[in-house]
Amino acid sequence: MVAAAAAVEREADRLTELDSAIGDADHGNNMQRGFAAVVKALEADAPTAPGAVLTSAGRQLISTVGGASGPLYGTLLRRSGKTLGDAAQVTRQELRAGLRAGVDAVMQLGGAAPGDKTMLDALVPAVAALETSFEAAAAAAEEGALATVPMRARKGRASYLGERSIGHQDPGATSSALLFATLAEVAA
Ligand code: ADP
Ligand code: MG
Ligand code: MG
Repeated sequence: MVAAAAAVEREADRLTELDSAIGDADHGNNMQRGFAAVVKALEADAPTAPGAVLTSAGRQLISTVGGASGPLYGTLLRRSGKTLGDAAQVTRQELRAGLRAGVDAVMQLGGAAPGDKTMLDALVPAVAALETSFEAAAAAAEEGALATVPMRARKGRASYLGERSIGHQDPGATSSALLFATLAEVAA
């Protein structure tokens, strides 16, 4: 979470730039505010179980981020954390199963599916590739984010643009790729 907050801080301008093309130019700020709150909460009370860390992080994102990405990423982490339970350690396969449940919850909450030009276009392939390795998950997320460029947005703010959303990379898919790249770095 500390590495994620640093990555989001580093890439905030780029995320906001992408969101200025097909959204309301706040995705970098939203992610920055959310992950800063996540780190602050974990500094104040650091749970030892990985599941509890994710649950705490998800709660912070939901309560501090006003944009769509807050409740969506918050739900992803909270549901993942709840699925992992209070195990003291988790394997990559257990983490994958947790994230799988989290991604399902995101689809249920937002009503989007892969192909709609959202964070799910990076998250779904990334979680599938986590079966193989952290590196494969990061690569799949990056590929998924790039694949949003020619898509027409069907969910979220970008969908208001209709055809004009085509030709731009989705900000949320880009932040998802950033988070999976960070996970791979930290795991290595
Ligand atoms: P807002 O659009 O409220 O300003 P952000 O800019 O922080 O929120 O986040 C926008 C991102 O959220 C989009 O790029 C997209 O990836 C994601 N998103 C929006 N709506 C949905 C949805 N229904 N399901 C999944 N992801 C979504
Ligand atoms: Mg926005
Ligand atoms: Mg907004």
